[in-house]
Amino acid sequence: LFAGEWGYLRSCHAIDQLPATGPAEVAFAGRSNVGKSSLLNALTGRKQLARWSNTPGRTRALNLFARTDGVGPVVVDMPGYGYAKAPKVEVAAWTKLVFSYLRGRPNLRRVYLLIDARHGPKPVDVEAMGVMDEAAVSYQAVLTKADKIGKAAQREVVAATETALRRRAAAHPDVLLTSSVKNEGLDELRAAIATLVAE
Ligand code: GDP
Repeated sequence: LFAGEWGYLRSCHAIDQLPATGPAEVAFAGRSNVGKSSLLNALTGRKQLARWSNTPGRTRALNLFARTDGVGPVVVDMPGYGYAKAPKVEVAAWTKLVFSYLRGRPNLRRVYLLIDARHGPKPVDVEAMGVMDEAAVSYQAVLTKADKIGKAAQREVVAATETALRRRAAAHPDVLLTSSVKNEGLDELRAAIATLVAE
């Protein structure tokens, strides 16, 4: 699935800009700076793929990627949240976009919720879990930048994330530990996505 060539499809600033319905979608969400672009680039093997999402005018959009041959899922890069300096009107606009996307997308199979392994789930991440629970969207926690901490701290943050997830109403898939820099956990994540979209 991830061996193919990936390319940018489009950016959607409003829900009606999304393709009506189409192949299965998997979305990636997380706080700004969590390592989302790095992870998407590493997953797809395209160094600059997610750079699209970070160019002016696109950071508050849903950015869609897919394999250029149309095989496999559409990957949706969701706008990063928790950016303290963002103006209120912008926050309101992207909250609306994200909510309406999560609520009204039957082909959305799962959201990968990225959490910085150094910090574990922050209150905004727990808030994001609440939004997805409310929208009845399946999600899986992916810890990023695992290379920045030692093995003991890795075990601790996995446990803390599992605890945060256990407090939610629904059951959740295993917490994944990844490093885009050290190429760790990426095969597991690729396999999880491949299994999910093949179902
Ligand atoms: P985004 O804002 O979520 O798209 O985050 P980026 O992918 O731009 O990453 C934010 C910062 O974290 C950058 O300086 C990256 O180089 C760094 N980073 C991202 N992933 C990793 C990782 O797996 N390990 C380490 N050590 N640094 C990472």
